[in-house]
Order: sequence, then C-alpha cells, then structure tokens
Amino acid sequence: MNNHDSDRMAQQLMASGMHPVDEPRQAGLIIINTCSVRAKPEHKALSEAGRFRRACESRGARIILAGCVARQEGRRLLHRAPYLDAVIGPDAVGRLVQIVDQIVSGRGPVLAVGDHDEQNPLFVPLGADATPSMTRFVTIMKGCDNYCSYCIVPYVRGREVSRPMLDILAEVKELGSRGVREVTLLGQNVNSYRDQTGADFPRLLQELDAQAIVSRIRFTTSHPKDLAHELIAAMAGLGSVVEHLHLAMQSGSDRILEKMRRGYTRDMFVEKALEFRAAVPGLSLTTDLIVGFPSETESDFQNTLEAVERVAFDGAFSFKYSPRPGTLAAAYEDDVPPEVKQDRLERLQTRLAELEYASLSSLVGREMEVLVGGSSVRDEAAHSGRTRCNRVVNFTSAQPIAPGDLITVKIHQARGHTMWGEGSQPVTVVGGSVQPGGQEDI
Ligand code: SAH
Ligand code: SF4
Repeated sequence: MNNHDSDRMAQQLMASGMHPVDEPRQAGLIIINTCSVRAKPEHKALSEAGRFRRACESRGARIILAGCVARQEGRRLLHRAPYLDAVIGPDAVGRLVQIVDQIVSGRGPVLAVGDHDEQNPLFVPLGADATPSMTRFVTIMKGCDNYCSYCIVPYVRGREVSRPMLDILAEVKELGSRGVREVTLLGQNVNSYRDQTGADFPRLLQELDAQAIVSRIRFTTSHPKDLAHELIAAMAGLGSVVEHLHLAMQSGSDRILEKMRRGYTRDMFVEKALEFRAAVPGLSLTTDLIVGFPSETESDFQNTLEAVERVAFDGAFSFKYSPRPGTLAAAYEDDVPPEVKQDRLERLQTRLAELEYASLSSLVGREMEVLVGGSSVRDEAAHSGRTRCNRVVNFTSAQPIAPGDLITVKIHQARGHTMWGEGSQPVTVVGGSVQPGGQEDI
C-alpha cells in the first residue's frame, strides 16, 4: 500500500512539472513515505529524515514526512523535527501538489494528518501519465475495522471504506487499454469488500474477469475469518484470477490467536487453507507470522510450527512482535525476551525456507506462464518475470523478449527463492485472458 501511495505521489508531482532525480542530494523536494506497522521501519524513517536535514538546510531543499508515521505522530513530529516542511498522512496523498505549493509560497509547515473529507478524496487512481508498467496496484478499499490487538493499521489508515465497483472496473479497463497485463487489488481485508450497491469481493472478481481486459488479477490481503466459499469458486473458475492466496495465520496457538483477536482457531485456519488447496490446483499459499507475542510460551510456538507443517506454506513473511502505541496489546507486558524472540524467529524461518525450497523444487520440469518484467538481477543476459503464483523465474531464450511478454518457460532448477529455466513460446492471449491450453500451469 505504501508503494502504491509513493507511486501516486510521484505521479502527481511529475504531472505538475517536477521530475525525479537519482540521488536525494540532487533533489529540491524529498518525501519520506513511512510505515509504522512495526517499530523498526518507523525508527528507520525518522533517522532517514535526520540524514536529509543537512541537505535541506544547506541547499534550501524541502522535506516532507508522509504516511502512517506521520498520521500516528502528527504535530509531535513538527516539534521533534522542526526542519520538516510538512507532515502528511495517507489520506492527504490526493492533495500533495496543493501542499507543496503552500510550502513553496512560505505558508508552511503544513500538518495534514486527518481522515478523508471533501478536501482529501478517498480513492485517487494513478493517472494516464504515470510511468508505464505491465503490472499495477488498484486500491479497492481503504482502512480496516478488525482491530487485531497488535496492529496499528486501523488507527493510522482509518475505518474500512469500499470503493464503488464501477470505479474499479473503469480504472482496470483504462489500465488494460494502456497495456497493463496484471493488476493487484489492494485492501487490508479484501474479503470484507462490499460497495454501496451490495457488490462483494467474489462479484468484483467475476466482473473484472468478464471484462477480459487484463491477463492476471491478483489481490492482497485476505482475512481468514471472512473467507467466503464463493472466493474458492472464483479462484478455481475464473481464468484471469491467479492461483495465489496470501492468508495471514499470525500464530498456530489458539490461546495466542484469541489474545490477538483474530477470530479463528488454528484448526479453522488449517481447514480453510486445505480446502483452498484442494479446490484450486497448483495454488500457492503464503502467510504472515508473528513470534514472541506477549505471553507466548515454547509450547505456543510449537503449535505454530505444527500448523506451518500441516499447511506447508509456499512462502511467508515472519516477524518478531513489536508493541505499537495505542493498540490493545500495548497494554500487555512485552514479556518474551528479545533473545527468545530472535531464536524462535530463526527456527521458524529455517523451516519456512525449507518448505519454500521444496515447493519450488516440485515445479522443476514443468512449463509455466511467466510475465516478463525485465532482465534478471543475477545475470544481465537472462530475463526475469513472475509466474501466476508470484514466483520469480529467471530464464534464457533464443527469441527476442520484451517486458510485458507472456512466455512459457520450462523450469530447470530451483535456487534459493527463485527458479531458473528456458523460455519457449509466447503464451496466446485473447482479449486479456489467457487461452485455455496456453495456461499450462500456475
Ligand atoms: N491486513 C493484513 C496485515 C497487514 S500488516 C492482514 O491482516 O493480513 C502486515 C503484517 O505485519 C501482519 O500480517 C503481521 O504479521 C505484521 N504485524 C502487524 N503488526 C505487527 C506488530 N505489532 N508486530 C509484529 N508484526 C506485526
Ligand atoms: Fe491489522 Fe488485523 Fe486489520 Fe490486518 S486485519 S490490517 S492485521 S487490524
């Protein structure tokens, strides 16, 4: 979501006549877009701001701190860092140019950390003049009403609001007509999407698929407690909806899940995950996990390891619990010692890496559809792209290949987090959807 906000900010500034530079020290305006979901990115953002301070003072450059840390800290930031020209929350992204004008004309510093209102439109799509790209984010809802006890998102991104389905369809149509091949629908909990007309998330997927304008539709992220059976049908039956489900489990201990206020038990989670695996062939299931939540014992952690084993996740993001100001869990004692959190994280990550490698290795010998992004970071002579399941594939090809091509790649090897292979023929694309038969695999 932050990446998407950064893109929207960059695009608005470019449309107003600015251009990006390679180095912050060449910039006349620096914006640090921040995340406050854990303490580490928050501290990093603030130390970045301090680093740019001298550039601002010696060259008269302007500096804005944007995003969730801005929303969380508000006016306090202007006291702590008086060199900041503006502190703006996620809901002010739509009026960035106006805010920059205010600063430049000497009417700063600006504090814009409120919720959306008429001045701050809710959903601002990327305009037509954004940097062309084959894959794009599309916001379908903002905010979150779940209030998981550890999470700051509902406090910094506000209440849940769904964007009208017709606006989403129009944005995706526009993107498709400009050559975008893949969209990722964004929301903190896409399963609770419901617009004013009553359209829900499976219906949105059906309508997007029926438009047949983009080849791939991804979405992130789903909450396990709100998973509907219709979503299984949509994933299994709609050609453009990819076979990748990111489903955050967080913990495998029922006691901890309850303290986290997640609204499901370990068995409920595992059952749903396995139901999706059975219904959607080739599904890649990824997750988020937290270790060291207040009062977590070794036996709670073992329950997490067991659940990880039962689902055999194809990939995961895992984190040490980090208390966030104002959340329910911040009132609990952060009583798992740092070295225990670190040890559990390492043990968990070792097992997750083995499972991921096993999942990639099982694909060796298969032919997979890859959307080309550019050249490989490991080998300039090779190309790189992603499968429908969001796995990175590096490959060589005898034919000329361009970003945006859909290529069938024969997988030869799994290495670390990526796969290597040989490109064969382009995949046939009809009206945005991949032809049955061309869609050899995930
Ligand atoms: N809406 C998404 C999560 C968004 S936050 C969902 O519910 O799936 C992304 C991830 O950050 C979470 O899934 C969680 O694993 C992690 N996270 C959030 N708050 C955290 C905290 N206080 N400490 C550690 N990890 C946290
Ligand atoms: Fe945070 Fe829970 Fe909302 Fe996800 S669902 S953003 S973890 S409160």
